[in-house]
Amino acid sequence: MIGIKTVTDYFGCDVFSEAVMKERLPEDVYAEFQRTLQTGHRLNIDVANIIANAMKDWAIEKGATHYTHWFQPLTGITAEKHDSFITSKRDGRVIMEFSGKELIQGEPDASSFPSGGLRATFEARGYTAWDPTSFAFIKNSVLCIPTAFCSYGGEALDKKTPLLRSMEAINKQTLRILRLFGHDDVVAVKTTVGPEQEYFLVDKDVFNKRKDLIYTGRTLFGAMPPKGQELDDHYFGAIKPRVQAFMKSVDEELWRLGVLAKTEHNEAAPAQHELAPIFTTTNIATDHNQITMEVMQKCAKEHGMVCLLHEKPFAGVNGSGKHNNWSISTSTGANLLEPGETPAENAQFLLFLCAVIKAVDDYQDLLRISIASAGNDHRLGAQEAPPAIVSMFLGEELTSILEAIEHDEDIDNKEKELLKVGVHVLPRFPKDTTDRNRTSPFAFTGNKFEFRMLGSSASVAGPNTTLNTAVAEVLSQFADELEGKEDFEGALHQLIKRVIKNHKRIIFNGNGYDDAWVEEAEKRGLLNLVSTPDCLPYMLHDKNISLYEKHKVYSETEIKAHYEIKNEKYCKYLNIEVLTMIDMAKKDILPCVSRNIHELADTVIAKRSVSSTINVSYEEELVETLSRISAKVFQDVKNLEYLSQEVKSIEESDAAACFYKHNIIPVMESMRDSVDLMETLCSSEHWCYPSYGELLFSVR
Ligand code: ADP
Ligand code: MG
Repeated sequence: MIGIKTVTDYFGCDVFSEAVMKERLPEDVYAEFQRTLQTGHRLNIDVANIIANAMKDWAIEKGATHYTHWFQPLTGITAEKHDSFITSKRDGRVIMEFSGKELIQGEPDASSFPSGGLRATFEARGYTAWDPTSFAFIKNSVLCIPTAFCSYGGEALDKKTPLLRSMEAINKQTLRILRLFGHDDVVAVKTTVGPEQEYFLVDKDVFNKRKDLIYTGRTLFGAMPPKGQELDDHYFGAIKPRVQAFMKSVDEELWRLGVLAKTEHNEAAPAQHELAPIFTTTNIATDHNQITMEVMQKCAKEHGMVCLLHEKPFAGVNGSGKHNNWSISTSTGANLLEPGETPAENAQFLLFLCAVIKAVDDYQDLLRISIASAGNDHRLGAQEAPPAIVSMFLGEELTSILEAIEHDEDIDNKEKELLKVGVHVLPRFPKDTTDRNRTSPFAFTGNKFEFRMLGSSASVAGPNTTLNTAVAEVLSQFADELEGKEDFEGALHQLIKRVIKNHKRIIFNGNGYDDAWVEEAEKRGLLNLVSTPDCLPYMLHDKNISLYEKHKVYSETEIKAHYEIKNEKYCKYLNIEVLTMIDMAKKDILPCVSRNIHELADTVIAKRSVSSTINVSYEEELVETLSRISAKVFQDVKNLEYLSQEVKSIEESDAAACFYKHNIIPVMESMRDSVDLMETLCSSEHWCYPSYGELLFSVR
């Protein structure tokens, strides 16, 4: 139909994409820009001026009036400061200008972003620098330029800088390996990511009645509803019209912004949904995921709902994660985690597979740290989320192949010669038979790995920085060992065998929730770092600092600063939760219960006035029970008030984080148990907040 735009017409229309650049830039400028992208050198200022001008003209045609350097500080969300394009003229008029310098570098007044002391050591200001590998886009009439954010001394103050450095590290080491296999045609290697984003939608009016959701993003109290997800009737069920309308707006906005939103469905819990994009280069996928979260929250509001991105908005109900599908792909279009067709391809596949196995085993601690947050602590190890123990799922088929290689067995009893390099003709792995084991933290799913421990609200930058660096390190060890070997095949075979033998402890295909697994994992020497304060100290272990320094991903100073920030963030988050709990208990919950008790006591008097022998056991028993529990809650409130003062006197942020874990969280949990019990005892009329049932089934 004329007038109706199809998706292909408007996809990416708000992006200053490669196609737009090609169309709008002089040929030599475009070529120079491409060269800069490939070499990673700084852009020449004359070229930058021309690009900036073209970008501005394009943006103004699309209605933009401002530009911003869009960056990802360590708060975990994106930051932007808008500047308009206007420049004043002597005659009182204005013109719209945007220079190359403004495009390449910015100086946001960023003194209130977390820096872990980095800026104090160097310079007060932060600097933003354009990441030309991620395209500029227009959002709400503002031209957004993706940038990295660092201190004057070049220390990373954001999530993008270390990620880009880790991509460079894995590029360098993978190329060394590919040369050994004769792939001289590959000029660059990039990791790819497809993050599956889970979220909840609740009605705005219901949301607004819950202080805990407003202040902390999760419910701090709430008894289980009579109906939860046990019927499995929500998962992949028909999408409600209101949710459908929301998803349509999200898709349209994302498509305009060039985000490859692909799959949408209901998730296991009531009110839970998922959006998965088509995978792309890791730094772009990271930017796109930040945009996705922002667009989802905005569209939800427009549809009278609130999008909850917290990892565990409802205790006892499935949490929200962000499955991070990850692979490595070459400039010639090959996926290095795709099992091959020929023996040589399979040898190469096995080598990359072994690199990931060893990396996950050697750096379990860093992977655990990369997804650690106060919110995710509630999610891990319950209701379909993987446990805190990092392990890998390979599936029976692949595991048996590795076992055969380790023990020099011949799998198919033919082509013995090939065994020398451990290259049986691998069966193709039908994707669907690989993994449906949702409790595995790190699963091979046919031609990629799915890192499932990530929480729904966090940026995917951190986990991918860790993963890229850990795999880069192992590849560099492999390259050191294999380069210059006369008998390459023999050396390769030995290496693969040795890695399988030494690192098979990380492979686990069973149920991650079994108590037996916790015991078994301990026997295997695997780490079980249950909470954020348990795992963070591992960041400072020598082996981890050396890893990041060697690959120039983080300097020691940066690691220490990031360590501070992670601990501080944990404490701040918990502090808000404690204060919210105290407020809810004192101002709403205890007064509500008292009113309920009062009404019951009045009923006793009324009944007695009718007859002194009338049965008042219901009222009396309830008055007694509610009074006892509310006294306990009152005591917990006083304890929390005392403890939240005490924690302020602890100077070191890691010690404060431990204090929260060991001294404060247990009181919060005990208080919650009491309040939830009272919720089941009080009349609905006297309960001050919408129940779990009302929240989870609020969108109809
Ligand atoms: P599910 O895990 O729900 O079965 P899929 O396996 O189809 O879904 O894909 C999940 C995500 O993995 C999608 O975002 C998809 O784009 C992404 N993905 C597929 N191949 C790769 C790859 N080579 N690298 C990174 N992500 C990938
Ligand atoms: Mg998946």
